[in-house]
Amino acid sequence: MLLKIIVFCVVVYAAWKTFHRWKRLWDKFVGKPDEPARPTPPPPQSEPLQPRKPAIQETVQCTGCGAYNPANAEKCGQCGRPQRPQS
Ligand SMILES: [Zn+2]
Repeated sequence: MLLKIIVFCVVVYAAWKTFHRWKRLWDKFVGKPDEPARPTPPPPQSEPLQPRKPAIQETVQCTGCGAYNPANAEKCGQCGRPQRPQS
């Protein structure tokens, strides 16, 4: 009984090793396994500043209440005070 288990383990181990060897060969032919497939390189960035961050809106602090609003907002979203154009 015990011998059978040991033999089974050895067989499984040998099969595993063989499988891995063949898999490596296969990967050599097909492609590198560690390198993820990149379909296309990213297009050139139109904005050189902050290339990795996805479009953080420029904010302007309201002079009335101190809330941050988008720079292109006409008036404050908190108190409704008109935003001054950034100089
Ligand atoms: Zn405000």
